[in-house]
Amino acid sequence: MTERTDTESRKLLGRLRDELAQDAPGQTRLDKITALIASSMGCEVCSIYLFRDQETLELCATEGLKPEAVHQTRMRLGEGLVGRVAQRRQVVNTANAPKASGFRFMPETGEEVYSSFLGIPVQRLGEALGVLVVQSKDAREFSADEVYALEVVAMVLAEMTELGAFVGEGAAMSARHSHPVMIRGTTGQEGVAEGHIWLHEPRVVVVNPIADDPQREMERLNAAVDELRIGVDKMLSLAGPDQEQRQVLEAYRMFANSKSWMRRMEEDIGRGLSAEAAVEKEQSLARARVGQASDGYLRERLSDLDDLSNRLLRILTGQGQDTGAEMPPDPILVARNIGPGELLDYGRSLKGIVLEAGSVGSHAAIVARALAIPLVVHAKGITTEALNGDPVMVDGDQGIVHLRPDDNVVSAFRDKIAMQAEALQRYASIRDKPAETLCGAKIDLMMNAGLMADLPSLPSSGAEGVGLFRTELQFLVRNQMPKRSELSALYARVMDAAQGRPVVFRTLDIGSDKVLTYMKPNDEPNPAMGWRAIRVGLDKPGILRMQLQALMRAANGRPLYVMFPFVAQYEEYTQARAEVNKALERERRLGHPLPSKIEVGAMLETPSLGFAPRKFFEEVDFISIGGNDLKQFFFAADRENERVRRRYDTLNVSFLSFLEQIVERCAASNTPVSFCGEDAGRPVEALCLAAIGLRRLSMRPASIGPVKSLLRRSNLEELRKVIADTRHRGAMSVRPAVMEWLRDQ
Ligand code: PEP
Ligand code: MG
Repeated sequence: MTERTDTESRKLLGRLRDELAQDAPGQTRLDKITALIASSMGCEVCSIYLFRDQETLELCATEGLKPEAVHQTRMRLGEGLVGRVAQRRQVVNTANAPKASGFRFMPETGEEVYSSFLGIPVQRLGEALGVLVVQSKDAREFSADEVYALEVVAMVLAEMTELGAFVGEGAAMSARHSHPVMIRGTTGQEGVAEGHIWLHEPRVVVVNPIADDPQREMERLNAAVDELRIGVDKMLSLAGPDQEQRQVLEAYRMFANSKSWMRRMEEDIGRGLSAEAAVEKEQSLARARVGQASDGYLRERLSDLDDLSNRLLRILTGQGQDTGAEMPPDPILVARNIGPGELLDYGRSLKGIVLEAGSVGSHAAIVARALAIPLVVHAKGITTEALNGDPVMVDGDQGIVHLRPDDNVVSAFRDKIAMQAEALQRYASIRDKPAETLCGAKIDLMMNAGLMADLPSLPSSGAEGVGLFRTELQFLVRNQMPKRSELSALYARVMDAAQGRPVVFRTLDIGSDKVLTYMKPNDEPNPAMGWRAIRVGLDKPGILRMQLQALMRAANGRPLYVMFPFVAQYEEYTQARAEVNKALERERRLGHPLPSKIEVGAMLETPSLGFAPRKFFEEVDFISIGGNDLKQFFFAADRENERVRRRYDTLNVSFLSFLEQIVERCAASNTPVSFCGEDAGRPVEALCLAAIGLRRLSMRPASIGPVKSLLRRSNLEELRKVIADTRHRGAMSVRPAVMEWLRDQ
């Protein structure tokens, strides 16, 4: 790039900055800017198109096209050359626009006389905000240098749009981040909440995108990059032996030392951008590439670069995590993603959580469920749309987020909250009553837990104990292996909090989606069917033994209930049970007090165990059906895969028949059996499980009220007939018939 074009570019940006510094209405600014760019580029036309809504671009200012077309000419995303630039986020540069593919003639603008067309996306951090266009009569393609100069201008326009510099009255654009927006995501945890946005990672705001002393900006950039490199080196020297973490940090170091990254940013500064604007411009480009990359590895690396750019921006702007903003009293947390430990730090103060990425089975989702906080995942666009303090309503039942809702939405939503509160009161009134059906069957309702934070809901939920305590959560929320003494203290506190009610501890279920950061990762093609749960426990018994000892010490003379996850065959149970016996023996030898009794169960989560030899059913102390896993393997439908996970109904006749067969085998050997998958907490499903003979169900604490309420109003003998008739008819699912029967009640 020549010194001359650099200087011209800087001159244009300097004039742009002077224009923006004037106190003028948004429309006047836009008009002046288009005139400025057209004259500086030597073009007859310069136009700025901005998004009116997510799908519609609007001509907001023009020099050269007919003025009456301003705020009249609109196009949909992808429509015409302008729509194409916005949709693909790519430059269109053509000498013969009418012949270019996608061209659409818009007579009201009078643009037919212009042959050449250069359209540049106006985008900020991967979000398209509009299109900047220059056109001229002579048929020429714009040079790479001109394209680059205009890209720099587009970057400044994006920053100014974000800062609200073009907002005006009447036909002009209204402020961004001020309209109601509805975002449809996926349910992570049911429940509804109203509150105000709290951004987990506050956005860095670049208020000075243009700078006129490139030398000084280069120095600022270099100093910041040096600080960044030192920081990354320090992180590497402190990192443990974990290979994955080291690999990520090595990638950081590689980017931080990347010459081409530096060169691009220095070029941007040469053109007149400030150091932070140059960093953000490169970050925007990387984000646009993330959207297009199909390769997972490449996407990961681009997001490393994104993270690194954020760090650099924080160094340059001095805007740390702490922006001085105060957390609202009813915070709804918004983040791209969040780790379980960070989520636990917020604890119960959060009213709701909305994640741009995230997944239903992520650790964050597990924690949100444990804390009973409504959670929506896959909420596309939330991190760019939401501002700290914005009012928001989260509908975890439907997986919908209403950001800055209008009055109609607010009142409908409040009705829904009120109805739920009313229902809660109804449930509270039956809290101390038994879950006894009209035909006299008594069902034990237990709760699922995994954190100490769960235990306070035990008395208020009316649960008779903890039917499933997922011990892996304690391992997942830390970044190093917990010590035996820590675990035993924690388990003791859990038993104390249960006040004599039984707590069934499930030993560590890691593997599959639950990965411990401090353990060597296994690169398995199909982790859900891989080296997980009891398979890990038996192959590497160190942790299992430590955990069993911790449990025995926690029991300290009280009864102890332990179960093993993912037992697929009888021998696995006998081997695991032998570990319990060995641990007991060791504790005896060491002179520690032993549990007053110990019951050792197995989770039935693979179809194979349903067909285990009779001896297994006789030997095992109790069985707990893990319906989440059992269903995914029964139907071969991944519970994490949105495309298939809802495809097969729990009330499918084949699945119910299989469950019934398990219940019968347990009855024949007098083996207590319970069901602890998510379906136990869904009232209709719970009712059907009771109808096929299950007498113990373990569920989220919030489900106990609704399930008990329905059970107390139902006659299982009648329901059994409905199920039998449906089977007889050869229907696929009993759900329609059961729903009809319920409606008739
Ligand atoms: C299950 O699989 O049903 C279960 C309770 O275990 P998890 O959901 O923790 O895999
Ligand atoms: Mg399971």
